[in-house]
Amino acid sequence: MKVVLLSYTKDAERLCAAAAHSCYSTDPASEILENVTEAKAGGFIDRVVGMGHHSVIEHASYTFSLEGVSRSLTHQLVRHRLASYSQQSQRYVSLLEPDFVTPGPVLADPEANRIFEEAMQNAWEAYQQLVSIVPVEDARYVLPNACTTNIVVTMNARELWHFFTLRTCRRAQQEIRTAAELMLKEVREISPSIFRDAGPSCIRGKCREGKLSCGKPRLELKYI
Ligand SMILES: Cc1cc2nc3c(=O)[nH]c(=O)nc-3n(C[C@H](O)[C@H](O)[C@H](O)COP(=O)(O)OP(=O)(O)OC[C@H]3O[C@@H](n4cnc5c(N)ncnc54)[C@H](O)[C@@H]3O)c2cc1C
Repeated sequence: MKVVLLSYTKDAERLCAAAAHSCYSTDPASEILENVTEAKAGGFIDRVVGMGHHSVIEHASYTFSLEGVSRSLTHQLVRHRLASYSQQSQRYVSLLEPDFVTPGPVLADPEANRIFEEAMQNAWEAYQQLVSIVPVEDARYVLPNACTTNIVVTMNARELWHFFTLRTCRRAQQEIRTAAELMLKEVREISPSIFRDAGPSCIRGKCREGKLSCGKPRLELKYI
């Protein structure tokens, strides 16, 4: 899996701080933005985000390319509705060579791995035969959830916060958790104040999973 931060809002923290500050000022945001330093913006964002006023961070957006991930992962990803997506098409791109993601627990068990590899081989054999008979868009129905794909996703910082809360939690599946952690690492570097406390709810002190809690707070995610 590769996660690449393709683009993001320039001066995201200064912009969000100026927007937030304009709510309490007679000066318009354009003038506030000219005068706000990064350090001042960081302090302001820390306070506003700390109070849970997340609407101001909607002004910042981040675009990622997720490459070589499974269709299982992208199915989970696109359930997040406040986002924009562009995914490699299985209607227009023929995937003649077997290319798939093997989940960790399958890799770790020789028997599971054997069964999995055989299933992949069978699926691709069927696909290769079908594409010579029917259109690629119809042959693809035999491809598995494990099939690799590429997807571009854009989310604003508020939706990313929500996404990180759900998908860096140990209850999320390993593959999407890894993607979410890599995304969190990228945006923390760009916008440290906005994302300082982003991550699973346990890093903010209380697990929101109730009875399903794993009981092992992911404190290491505070520092990635
Ligand atoms: C561990 C885990 C297990 C899961 N298991 C399943 C499962 O078994 N089956 C399944 O179907 N899904 C499952 N999901 C997916 C889950 O139900 C959500 O679809 C997914 O996490 C997207 O999150 P979301 O709906 O909160 O928010 P997003 O789509 O990311 O939206 C963000 C927020 O915007 C608001 N919002 C968005 N759209 C609306 C709307 N139409 N009306 C009102 N408010 C809205 C809500 O406050 C929402 O929380 C699972 C997710 C996780 C993390």
